[in-house]
Amino acid sequence: MAKVFYENEVNEGVLKGKKVAVIGYGSQGHAHAQNLNESGYDVVVGVRPGKSRAQAEADGLRVYDVSEAAEQADVVMVLLPDELQPAVYKNEIAPYLSPGNALVFAHGFNVHFHQVVPPEDVDVFLVAPKGPGHLVRRTYESGAGVPALVAVYQDVTGTAKETALAYAKGIGSARAGVLETTFKEETETDLFGEQAVLCGGLSSLVKAGFETLTEAGYQPEVAYFECLHELKLIVDLMYESGLEGMRYSISDTAQWGDFQSGKRIVTDETKAAMKRVLQDIQSGEFAKGWILENQANRPVFNAVNELEKTHPIETVGRELRAMMPFVKPVRKEKEAVGGA
Ligand code: NDP
Ligand code: MG
Ligand code: MG
Repeated sequence: MAKVFYENEVNEGVLKGKKVAVIGYGSQGHAHAQNLNESGYDVVVGVRPGKSRAQAEADGLRVYDVSEAAEQADVVMVLLPDELQPAVYKNEIAPYLSPGNALVFAHGFNVHFHQVVPPEDVDVFLVAPKGPGHLVRRTYESGAGVPALVAVYQDVTGTAKETALAYAKGIGSARAGVLETTFKEETETDLFGEQAVLCGGLSSLVKAGFETLTEAGYQPEVAYFECLHELKLIVDLMYESGLEGMRYSISDTAQWGDFQSGKRIVTDETKAAMKRVLQDIQSGEFAKGWILENQANRPVFNAVNELEKTHPIETVGRELRAMMPFVKPVRKEKEAVGGA
């Protein structure tokens, strides 16, 4: 079993008395800055002028330009969109790092794929919450937390790991559990998870189920509730008590259907495709494609993004959700903090 760190094992003293600059105030940034601040750490925010900067100020934080925040801080957490990090790092962060500072990330992509090459005289580590930023904030406020991974890439002070754990505790993650990993493992598993299961696999599964029902003549509203809305209720059960706990709550008919048909949907061929997705991540092929796509100003990303919005599941979903005020959209919150 991997070692999992919880609150009582973490020495926060190593981060107290240090100044933390949270760079970016988007999905992760607003959560880290406010959680650390409320956990009693000395926090400043570094962000460009704009909507999220105004939000950081409205939230009562001390806000500066990126370079000013980086210069005054001992610990610089980079929470900008991954594709923008290399340029902002080079121009507005690197020149302002001092020996013994810590350069921190929430995802290993840029360091692992050498898009950011840190100087040799600073600590480099990551604290990667395993959940969307808005839930890092929401769970912290409710007394809970989102689990996190920590990894040390470079330790010049001898306290990189302790500092990473203290940071993780400050954002609430040690309430849920903090695991130690490497930049390679965090980067590759994070990319795999979001592509094969959490985002890519799941959205494709939902769409295929919805299309199968509507193409067979069933009502789109019924198909939406069946294939998308109810998913959360099922996932909540899995989150609380695993697959077995989920199966405890569903009918025996549903459980028999699960056993009979699940393997007809996710087949050996699906698993072989997952392995190819993983290989493309490990070889850097996926990273190269994403870096080039950004250099070309995202022609494919933007085209697919527009097309996806027109899918019938989105049209019917918007109408049905408008009638369910108890369904709390994260996006309103997210737009307010300027996330992408
Ligand atoms: P967001 O897209 O939400 O962050 C956007 C923030 O960066 C905004 O404050 C934006 O300001 C600011 N920004 C953009 N460009 C610049 C710039 N040139 N100079 C200064 N500030 C700028 O990012 P995420 O929170 O999604 O991701 C941050 C990191 O966290 C990434 O490494 C990601 O992989 C990682 N991560 C993200 C997760 C998530 O839940 N989203 C989960 C786990 C890790 P403005 O409002 O002006 O645009
Ligand atoms: Mg990710
Ligand atoms: Mg049912």
